[in-house]
Amino acid sequence: MSRFKTPFAVFIIFLAIQVARAEATKPNIVFFFSDDLTTQAISAYQYGMDLPPTPNIDRLAREGMLFENSFCGNSICTPSRASVMTGLHSHKNGIVNLGGALDPDMGSWPKALHNNGYTTAVFGKWHMKTKPNGFDAWEVFSGQGNYYNPELFGAKGGSRRIQGHSTDIVTDLALDWLEHRDTSKPFALLIQHKAPHRNWKPSIQDLQKYRDITFPEPPTLFDNYEGRVAAANHKMGIDQHMVMGSDLMMFSGNQEQQVLSRLTPDQRKAYVAAFAEENAAFKANPPTGKDLVRWKYQRYMRNYLRCVAGVDRNVGRVLEQLDALNLAGDTVVVYCADQGFYLGEHGWFDKRWAYEESMRMPLIVRWPGKVKANTRCKAMVQNIDYAPTLLAAAGLEPDWTVHGISLMPLLTGGGVTPDNWRDTLYYRYIDGGHGVARHSAVRTNEFKLLYFDAPRNAAEQASRWELFSLDKDPQEMTNLATDPEYASQLAAMKARFWQTRAFYDDTDETVWQGKTKRFRQEDYIRQPR
Ligand code: CA
Repeated sequence: MSRFKTPFAVFIIFLAIQVARAEATKPNIVFFFSDDLTTQAISAYQYGMDLPPTPNIDRLAREGMLFENSFCGNSICTPSRASVMTGLHSHKNGIVNLGGALDPDMGSWPKALHNNGYTTAVFGKWHMKTKPNGFDAWEVFSGQGNYYNPELFGAKGGSRRIQGHSTDIVTDLALDWLEHRDTSKPFALLIQHKAPHRNWKPSIQDLQKYRDITFPEPPTLFDNYEGRVAAANHKMGIDQHMVMGSDLMMFSGNQEQQVLSRLTPDQRKAYVAAFAEENAAFKANPPTGKDLVRWKYQRYMRNYLRCVAGVDRNVGRVLEQLDALNLAGDTVVVYCADQGFYLGEHGWFDKRWAYEESMRMPLIVRWPGKVKANTRCKAMVQNIDYAPTLLAAAGLEPDWTVHGISLMPLLTGGGVTPDNWRDTLYYRYIDGGHGVARHSAVRTNEFKLLYFDAPRNAAEQASRWELFSLDKDPQEMTNLATDPEYASQLAAMKARFWQTRAFYDDTDETVWQGKTKRFRQEDYIRQPR
């Protein structure tokens, strides 16, 4: 028998080496996910305004592929996060509004990687209520989390409060895990920042930035919403709805105690000092009317972009560490955020709408040897595509049904759009916050059609459709739905809308009632009230 045993053992060792080699060829994945970091704020995108550079995110674009037409399907934090994880639109992943919780038993790309030999970790803003499932390590905020001295909940149970700024802390945790990970496996590391989510609190080291810069105003800052009835009913205007104290650090009385309550006395002192001179000048000569809107816009932009600068600097820290550990060549680096955001366009902050600024998502992918450096892809892609793409990068396919399609043909094909690529994106929003009416949309390369699912008054009822020519009117100011010259395009887009709704099987209206499903008590990061 022994003469057979030896060759058999050799054969088993040979097989094990082959399997190990196959595993070794699987790329690592670093997934940067920011919250509300819109394309207008990334200099590599260069949309619209000339804003400060983001050199580290731009480095990824220079060394990889930037997707010019990347979008979400429901422009608000939790639903977009669920789509990114599951590859499914909201009506099938169960998170339709901000209050939703991710079903821990649902398929996700990190879980599938974990089940197929990857070591996985997520740090920072998770925001889907239930514990991250499919991770060897995780330490996340409960809900929105805090910019300063945040509380983080971990895989080992319990929580800890870490002193400092969240963007730095999340990066510290990620780099520490990277250093101590199981190096026998490929890894997937998700680095998920709170910044630059409202209420904008930059790192103290960034508070002096942009003090002397006057940012260009978007041409639609004083939009009057003519022809767009639902948009006129918003509650997300810089003029009326942006709060002087908590949003803009323009303190009155002892408001700073409340707004900066989480900061240590030293941090608070630095914060108050950074705004003292400007706040005194404002109080000595308070602007009114349009001048006040302009003042608020400038203060908003400074603080938002300071938060962005912190994200960019921390992206740089991770890229440098990948270089130092000689990992960059074997690692797919994805930079994205959960949706776009308004930087004063249409007079707004916040997101939610299917209009371009908030439906658009940044997406940049670096993968040396696979993705040609410094390429830009024009194909329409969506957050439902990330799960099948990241699994395809590891040679896997989702073992559950997804809506998205793998972006590998674009990534490995120099960004050229294949002839049979999708020509329509689907969108549906119900959350209702900030006065934004429930609406759905389809977007093609030429047109966008919005449909208001639940008009709130007679005027909205009479104006349920909005049609925009993206070529002629990229700022979506002129609703063509009532223009007889566009009657045929309107009819065609309406037909496309209902076809797309049917294609994604979005026919069960009960899932859109926004009722949050309850899971087992032990599934929650923090017990729901
Ligand atoms: Ca968000």
